[in-house]
Amino acid sequence: MPELPEVETIRKGLASCLPGKRIEKVTVKREKTVQGVTAKQFSNRLRGARFLHLDRHGKFLLLDMDSGDTIIVDLRMTGQLVYEPVESPPPIHTHVLFRLSDGGRLRFTDSRTFGSLKLIPTERCREHPSLRRLGPDGLSEKVTLQFLQKQLTSTHRPMKLFLLDQQRIAGIGNIYACEILFEAGIHPELPSDSVAPDQVRKLKAAIRKILNRAIKLCGTTMRDFRTGTGGYGGYQNEFRVYGREGKPCPRCQTSIVKTRLGNRGTYFCPRCQPQQP
Ligand SMILES: [Zn+2]
Repeated sequence: MPELPEVETIRKGLASCLPGKRIEKVTVKREKTVQGVTAKQFSNRLRGARFLHLDRHGKFLLLDMDSGDTIIVDLRMTGQLVYEPVESPPPIHTHVLFRLSDGGRLRFTDSRTFGSLKLIPTERCREHPSLRRLGPDGLSEKVTLQFLQKQLTSTHRPMKLFLLDQQRIAGIGNIYACEILFEAGIHPELPSDSVAPDQVRKLKAAIRKILNRAIKLCGTTMRDFRTGTGGYGGYQNEFRVYGREGKPCPRCQTSIVKTRLGNRGTYFCPRCQPQQP
């Protein structure tokens, strides 16, 4: 499931090839993938529009067009948005296909079909319910020590679930929540209002360090994730706890433990991440 580093990797890849290109034709093969307008309106409003620039908030990708519309891309579990410079047969599960002025194609594929493309006037885009409710992006300067402290003390939720809450900080999912808590030395079940001040500093640093490192490696490819140009991520080779149940902790050699929290597999080192702070 793409998280902030994967969506940022797609954004960077597409930002290097889409701006300035015009959409010549839009083919919507699965109407439910298009939201906010009908498939016909989606195609008509985008035909002839040029890509201006690409933005991201948390796990959402925003494609601003010169027609005054923005496409909000929600990849959810298996969505892929890939640019191909030459025409090739679209793979199975291609739900929306854009033919571009340079002869290339931009295709949205999604085998589980939870993802969507929404067409919203750019000036109202940030007020759309899917974005309005989000907390600051995980890499935003708004995630200050004071901000984190205030968010942490306002709830008693286990730390893992705190990090997954997109309304507090946007962009962190299951994989990076596990890796961030290991980096910060915080037990995933520790209530957020019990995090000590020096741990808050470590947490803030860990969020930036892990997310930036993952972006540098073009994200994580477990199964479906592809970069905006069809490549693979490399962060899965640097997991220190995620998916490593029973394997030695890279710091202390204690066996990594797997538990379930909020119905999600949660991995941690019981020695480096003690229950009691
Ligand atoms: Zn350890």
